[in-house]
Amino acid sequence: SKEKIALFTIFGGTGDLAQRKLYPSLFKLYQKGYLQDHFAVIGTARRPWTDEHYHQVVADALASLHADADQVTAFASHFYYQSHDVTDVQHYITLKRLSEKLDAQYELQGNRIFYLAMAPNFFGTIARHLKSEHILTENGFNRVIIEKPFGHDFESAKTLNDELAETFDENQIYRIDHYLGKEMIQNIAAIRFGNNIWESLWNNRYISNVQITLSEKLGVEERAVYYDNSGALRDMVQNHIMQILSLLTMDQPVEFTEDDINIEKVKALRSLRPYQPEEVAKNFVRGQYAPTETVKGYRQEDKISPASNTDTFVAGKVMIDNYRWSGVPFYIRTGKRLADKFTRIDIVFKRPVINIFNHELPDNQAADNGLAPNVLTINVEPTEGFELRMNAKNVGQGFATTPVQLNFDHDATAAANSPEAYERLLHDILNGDATNFTHWQEVAYSWKFIDVIQQYWDDHQPSFPNYKPGTMGPQAAADLLAQDGHRWVYQG
Ligand code: NAD
Repeated sequence: SKEKIALFTIFGGTGDLAQRKLYPSLFKLYQKGYLQDHFAVIGTARRPWTDEHYHQVVADALASLHADADQVTAFASHFYYQSHDVTDVQHYITLKRLSEKLDAQYELQGNRIFYLAMAPNFFGTIARHLKSEHILTENGFNRVIIEKPFGHDFESAKTLNDELAETFDENQIYRIDHYLGKEMIQNIAAIRFGNNIWESLWNNRYISNVQITLSEKLGVEERAVYYDNSGALRDMVQNHIMQILSLLTMDQPVEFTEDDINIEKVKALRSLRPYQPEEVAKNFVRGQYAPTETVKGYRQEDKISPASNTDTFVAGKVMIDNYRWSGVPFYIRTGKRLADKFTRIDIVFKRPVINIFNHELPDNQAADNGLAPNVLTINVEPTEGFELRMNAKNVGQGFATTPVQLNFDHDATAAANSPEAYERLLHDILNGDATNFTHWQEVAYSWKFIDVIQQYWDDHQPSFPNYKPGTMGPQAAADLLAQDGHRWVYQG
């Protein structure tokens, strides 16, 4: 049977993440039969709620799924609410009793999943009490799930990790990076290692540069206080972009397993060329969106200081010093209030060394010899698919070349039925598969790379605001590529 057996304890069960992501994802797993009779969920938070009220909250969280009412009721009946202040030892004793009761009632075989859907400053306390109050079981598995942000810099990440490590082994810790749950991010390995044409060309002899863009159209929304303390570099680059980068650049794993993939990702991240402080300004660009007549600027947003120097945009050039990638710039960018909402990866190949079709070009072997570079685009969202740009003959008399495009998009129905990132990741956790999670070494190397940039920025005043909403960021982000003779494939 595909049924999985576990007790979920969600710390922060009344929160935004629990309601928007976790309850719908658990319900999808229930509908698909991965969760059936042998699961229960304890939701904890400080508020005093009854189980009945909690069932209603869970049902409300599923409203947009338009599911069968009886099925929703049956699902919600597996949920139990426990008022719990994570800093109060007494409450863990109550929690232990409830856990044991549910374990017996639903025959959960001691399998426990602890989802820490709370601010990270509580992680250490929770983990410590889970151990000291013997809420971890001896007979089943114990897995802990944590959310970003995983630290604020390398030092704080290490402190957090050391705290968790007092209770959990690395193989029990699941660090969520929801980009790793996305269909097209998982597809990177498939297209690279499943196609001779790509893996043969996947190196500095054939690739000119790589561009990773995570673009948001909205400004800072609900999580303003958190964001203002973080900024785009910490919020998006340290985790999501560095993970994508490692998947794009890693060598072929011996086997397609968690351990082998982790080894290759860590090798890739270890090969990042660290910047010296004096190199930061030349290689990393930060931005903050300005007000327009219709749209608030970042400094005018609710809960944001009018003098905030937080970056809402970052573009950077990342180099990987190994045999495969030496000399190939990886340009990354992400930001809020940009032209559109999408994530894409553009692999830009080198041009043919000479253009035999146009002898009149002054220098046929120059960087722009009149032949457009081949570009393989991986569309991550909202479109899920690939594009390949190549040069072909222009239709008609005479002989001229023109870029044409091959497109593949996932079928809309298949894409609509494809599991959301959180559903996929929860399923992986139930299976004990941490392939699509971030491992500690990966976190450590990405923070070390990011810290130099953040430190330089903290030490130097920016001139903000510096970009208009609806654009692809400040002019400096275009100049970053222009200084290498390149340009962004997606211009906005
Ligand atoms: P939230 O503020 O909506 O929820 C926090 C929860 O913690 C609430 O249930 C609250 O009652 C509970 N809580 C606070 N203090 C407590 C205490 N002392 N004892 C017991 N319970 C307490 O936060 P959220 O948006 O759901 O985020 C949860 C975690 O997920 C955070 O680590 C956040 O950084 C991360 N995260 C959230 C999102 C998102 O989309 N919401 C995205 C990425 C990461």
